[in-house]
Amino acid sequence: MKILIVEDEPKTGDYLKQGLTEAGLLADLARDGVDGLHLAEGGDYDLVILDVMLPGLDGWEVLRRLRRAGRDMPVLFLTARDQVDDRVRGLELGADDYLVKPFAFAELLARVRTLLRRGRTAPESGVLSAADLEMDLLRRRVTRGGRRVDLTAKEFALLELLLRRQGEVLPRSLIASQVWDMNFDSDTNVIDVAVRRLRAKIDDAFEAKLIHTVRGMGYVLERR
Ligand code: CA
Repeated sequence: MKILIVEDEPKTGDYLKQGLTEAGLLADLARDGVDGLHLAEGGDYDLVILDVMLPGLDGWEVLRRLRRAGRDMPVLFLTARDQVDDRVRGLELGADDYLVKPFAFAELLARVRTLLRRGRTAPESGVLSAADLEMDLLRRRVTRGGRRVDLTAKEFALLELLLRRQGEVLPRSLIASQVWDMNFDSDTNVIDVAVRRLRAKIDDAFEAKLIHTVRGMGYVLERR
């Protein structure tokens, strides 16, 4: 699950990004409306958290252009102004929810989880699997052979990517952009180390290996 935060207040933006990351979600942060729109149009986000008052393009305009461009991911509006007008206007423009600052992080997280459930994952069962490996996206739980596997947030995100695109060889650069920061340099060692750790948790104890290295190309998850 990947979330875009568009927030110009540095403290709030950093706090949100950190909180969501600690909650096991992937979050990118844009600090103005122009960047936010650009990222939201180009990236594969499951949810956008959008501040209303932004330099450049304001939140209304970002949302309007996003919807016009046919992007229908859920949008949660943040605003300091608790006014009925704002709320109505936001919802008319196609916002999915609305939170007034200041808010408790727990409240934001609850709304985020609800929106993610309602969003693109709704038609799915919320479970990804390969052989006897299962990932429950909503409960954020992974089991192999019925046994619980504890993963870090990054390992979870990495495994989710491999599972969603199982059978496909994923280059390190793609893994880097999807699981780590967007402009990841070519320090692929980080990815190799993370894959090794993931393997130790989900493959080492099992005869049938699921994650495979494709020399010179990347990694693939498949049942062989
Ligand atoms: Ca603002």
